[in-house]
Amino acid sequence: MSRKSAGAKYDERRCQLLEAERRLSSPNSVGVFETLVAFPREYTQAMGHLAFHRLYKQLSTWPDTVCARAFLPEKDEYNWRKRQHKPVEALDTGKSIKDSDLLVFLMPSETDWFPALQMMELSDITFRNNQREHKWPILLATGLSVTANPIPMSLFFDAFIIGETEPTLGPVLDIIKSLGSRRRPKSEILAGLAMLPGLYVPAVHGASPQYSIMRQWASSESIGALTNTISAQSTLPDTYILEIARGCPYNCRFCMAGYLLLPYREQRAEDLEVKIGKIPENTSLVYAACTPDSHDELDQLMSIAEKNHLKARVSSHMKESPELAEELQSILDADTLVLVPETGSESLRKVIGKFRTNEYYFQKIKNAPASVKKIQICIQLGVPFENDADRVAIVDFVKTITEITKLPVSVRIDQFIPRPWTAFQWAAMANLREVREHLAQLKESFKKTKVQEITGFDPRATLIQALLIRGNQSVGKALEIKLEGVGWNTAFDRAGLDMNTVFVEKDQDTKLPWEFLNMGFGYTRLAREYQMALAAEEERNAETE
Ligand code: SF4
Repeated sequence: MSRKSAGAKYDERRCQLLEAERRLSSPNSVGVFETLVAFPREYTQAMGHLAFHRLYKQLSTWPDTVCARAFLPEKDEYNWRKRQHKPVEALDTGKSIKDSDLLVFLMPSETDWFPALQMMELSDITFRNNQREHKWPILLATGLSVTANPIPMSLFFDAFIIGETEPTLGPVLDIIKSLGSRRRPKSEILAGLAMLPGLYVPAVHGASPQYSIMRQWASSESIGALTNTISAQSTLPDTYILEIARGCPYNCRFCMAGYLLLPYREQRAEDLEVKIGKIPENTSLVYAACTPDSHDELDQLMSIAEKNHLKARVSSHMKESPELAEELQSILDADTLVLVPETGSESLRKVIGKFRTNEYYFQKIKNAPASVKKIQICIQLGVPFENDADRVAIVDFVKTITEITKLPVSVRIDQFIPRPWTAFQWAAMANLREVREHLAQLKESFKKTKVQEITGFDPRATLIQALLIRGNQSVGKALEIKLEGVGWNTAFDRAGLDMNTVFVEKDQDTKLPWEFLNMGFGYTRLAREYQMALAAEEERNAETE
């Protein structure tokens, strides 16, 4: 019996994934302009991510444009492609991702940066934008991470969308198509893109632009994305995701997504009803938003879903963190109630701008519907001004929860990162020794409670994330060096970067790599928020004296 070659096996896997998909409507099948959305995550994760579906829908329905999709190959396939010098292929066409006119990389998180370069390396795409001799494809980057700070990746991409794609992508396509069809040189296309609002073009603007580039965002009317394609292979199997709001009505001082998705926008139930009506009966539907409970018409939306015979739930159990606020793949089973108090101390919660009382969370548990079978509590360790008493309060808070519910309780612990465009962007990160010690203490204390499962973060991986998102172009160099197979220490060292910089508090006059951007709110607002945090801290210190 003949053995199937690895190439045939992976092609078969690609076809199986395609066959398992179901679509609400067909994308453009013909078009002179070939685009591709590359998501540097594996297929199953990517398909549970609303931002990916939103971007693909926009590109695949634009006039004269066709769009394919590509993902980070699974580990075995990745290794095979690397050994055999086989490029990453588009799921829809089987063609190399290099064979497109426009290659759009979606990178919601800085953890997507390295895999994006891995996909480029496999596909023989020259990394450095100033060394790419071929005109096509033009490489465009989008997503929350590069909106916050595009500088580390500015060595590689031709252009960056700062903000949301709805208002920006159409003009980008028009410029590339019109100049491309007239065979104009790439430099002219890039100059054209640099004229557009919300576009950062490194070749034109440089690494320290002299003038501001303004973040763009969609109007309330143009949000409300619905997944067009569902798959049993997704982390949300055979589930439609409908965006009911964008942004967050709260303004936690540590939350980058909270700031970068301003202003808060809701889609009205009557407008969403038309979209909901197109979803086949008896399928699952997730109403997605940073904080779906805040939607004024949530009850009405649930009734509309019921009327349409859909199994609807909200993504309120989405992990509300700067890293994951957009990450729908973090949705757990429908039977898990996820609470994100960040800490156990109400006074510290006020300092970080999360104005919830402990009682609020206790009531959520007491009022949880019968369908809830598990509770997950998400804690952030090392937030600014956290002290020993605050960490004791975390344990007390969790202990109280285990006493008021008979349901199994798990705890997930993440570490605070001083992210760009937050009130704490100047703050220091807790150092590795300290944070390891505190994490171990917390885990030990939780063992004495009825907590069933504790998931702790990896302090080193979190440090790398902080260095990436806060970095300058040297971080780009470190990413390139890392591709040689060396460790992060060596990569940062050879790129001339001091890994300890994030442990030092910054003066507010310090020049930060991302400050040339205009987010629609100024540094003044961030500085004011920071002063408010300081005032709240002073107040609680006075109370304990
Ligand atoms: S942490 Fe959650 S509630 Fe706070 S601003 Fe971010 S998304 Fe909103």
